[in-house]
Amino acid sequence: MQKGKIGVTTENIFPVIKKFLYSDHDIFLREIVSNAIDATQKLKTLSSCGEYKGELGELKVRVAIDKENGTLTVSDSGIGMTAEDVDKYINQIAFSGAEEFLAKYKDSANAIIGHFGLGFYSAFMVSKKVEIRTKSYKEDAKAISWTCDGSPEFELNEIEKAERGTDIVLYIDDDCKEFLEKDKIEALLKKYCKFLPVPIVFGKKQEWKDGKWVDTEEDNVINNTKPAWTVQPSELKDEDYLKFYHELYPGEEDPLFWIHLNVDYPFTLTGILYFPKLKSNIDVQKDRIQLYCNQVFVTDSVEGVVPDFMMLMRGVIDSPDIPLNVSRSYLQSDANVKKISSYITKKVASQLENIFKNRRQEFEEKWNDIKIFIEYGMLTDEKFAEAAMKFALLANTDDKKFTLDEYKELIKGEQTDKDGYLVYLYATDKTAQYSYIKNATDKGYDVLLIDDQLGSHFVGMLEQKLEKARFVRVDSDILENLIVKADRKSAELSAEDRSVFTELFRSQIPAIEKTEFLVTFEALSAESSPVMITQSEYMRRMKEMAAMQRGMSFYGELPDTYSLILNTEHPLVKRVMEESKAALAEKVSPLEAKIADLTKTSEALREKKDATDAEKEILANNESQAEALRKEENEAIKAYAQTNPLVRQMIDIALLGNNLLKGEALDSFLKRSIDLLK
Ligand code: ADP
Repeated sequence: MQKGKIGVTTENIFPVIKKFLYSDHDIFLREIVSNAIDATQKLKTLSSCGEYKGELGELKVRVAIDKENGTLTVSDSGIGMTAEDVDKYINQIAFSGAEEFLAKYKDSANAIIGHFGLGFYSAFMVSKKVEIRTKSYKEDAKAISWTCDGSPEFELNEIEKAERGTDIVLYIDDDCKEFLEKDKIEALLKKYCKFLPVPIVFGKKQEWKDGKWVDTEEDNVINNTKPAWTVQPSELKDEDYLKFYHELYPGEEDPLFWIHLNVDYPFTLTGILYFPKLKSNIDVQKDRIQLYCNQVFVTDSVEGVVPDFMMLMRGVIDSPDIPLNVSRSYLQSDANVKKISSYITKKVASQLENIFKNRRQEFEEKWNDIKIFIEYGMLTDEKFAEAAMKFALLANTDDKKFTLDEYKELIKGEQTDKDGYLVYLYATDKTAQYSYIKNATDKGYDVLLIDDQLGSHFVGMLEQKLEKARFVRVDSDILENLIVKADRKSAELSAEDRSVFTELFRSQIPAIEKTEFLVTFEALSAESSPVMITQSEYMRRMKEMAAMQRGMSFYGELPDTYSLILNTEHPLVKRVMEESKAALAEKVSPLEAKIADLTKTSEALREKKDATDAEKEILANNESQAEALRKEENEAIKAYAQTNPLVRQMIDIALLGNNLLKGEALDSFLKRSIDLLK
């Protein structure tokens, strides 16, 4: 028997391991099983290059629980270790600057283990004693046992062991008894070892017999040793990709597309990324890509490794070049990781372009489901946006799909305004905006349907990317103003008429909470609607964005502002204007004349730089007089407006057309309509 001290500079690392690695206890199993796999793979390599001439035998890794003795054992038939190997690989732990490092990364077990190559020692997170029973593949090697109880002292003994390979026996700590539970271990193996390249056996397959589960003769193999991403793309069929997807995400719907990543220069990276069919809520889907390092599961929190928008995708990325064993903040600043991330972006973009080119019909059919990825990608990743300009599609209200270039060609003729801007008309709701859409299409314009969550952001981005382009929602103004073709006849109203008619209609708009209206006049054609309601594109977009992101609540708080547009060429509007003018002339004209007088003197006084106090007083007086007269006038207009049902009727029809007429206002509209029919 030989006794010795483990070569660490720190007095005792085991309390450190236990204390700092508390949160990530589970990974000990991954480390121990990975070592067993490595030992097996090394033996295969030695055998294939002729350095090992013996029988390979059945190369499986076995994991077994012995509840009675409180042990968990991982056994392999790999290369094993000689006493010298144990001394070299187990006893001598490079442990420089340990305390400093531990203090820095105390929350991340992965970081510590990765940094020190402490894989094996993670066993002490859950064990009060660990025994290595091993026999090297080398001829005449003696089997040995190494035992350590968590203090820096260990024992080395020669033992009887017939088979080549290593058993790692963990004497599970009393406060870690869960690691003696079959379900727990099976779950851990399935999480971390599901795709390791050597069969991992955990007990026997069971069958239902005589009312209970019993063991069969067959080994219960936990893993798929040849997962799809390790196979050449040319050897895989669609079914294989789908099967693998369901292996990763049991019970999920088929994915829409997939992309096989396969690089070996300038870094090694393989993987398969899937576009899943997303449910409506983006957030719940995050964190579904799994990162592997040589088929060992490392994490499914991939932030920083893949570009943000790909967090919505699923699948597997496997790379020994991603320093997965380090802390997250380190990962994000790592140059290699940045390169990998931008490579993935490039690859995804070019594959999408291929799919679009070669299978356009399928791409179009699935567009509604994948657009969220592409739009999100374009919004958050400049490089991706550039590439995606070739295959991002626009859909119109007839559900025809166009590339950006195709769409430009389509609307160029009809939808270029007098300043040479290409005007993209869009709707966000086919039903609610029906009449606006119809108006536009009747006129030979095309209307896009942009109805997804990212719509307003996407539109904003396209406006920046496309030259001389403007996006306007069909209901944001009258058609003539959306695409201004030539300088148009404006409504010819005298100042007096304008102020009277404005008040005439303004006074009759029913009060709607958090909603304001501006009354304006346009000389449209006699066939256009008499009254229309539009909402400014700018304000609407600001409010939509405010709803999606914090810090913009200023816009969110503002009321909705609509324009009530009266078509002064329409016979009905003409009639109302004439009738009201006649009815109000007697009352309003003298008031208007007085107001005009007052305004004139006020203006003159205001312009005077060295006005005397007396003059200032006159000015103030004038202003309050004018205000009082204006009030009187408005009262008179309002009183008249109430007697003319046409005013209210026209307003209500416009409100109704925008789903803004509700409650009491709707009720009085209905009653008034019946009265008008009498
Ligand atoms: P790493 O695996 O990162 O090198 P570990 O602490 O996990 O660090 O293991 C240290 C070394 O011990 C390994 O490199 C290997 O040489 C040896 N070793 C561990 N487990 C086994 C095993 N099951 N069979 C053979 N050698 C092993």
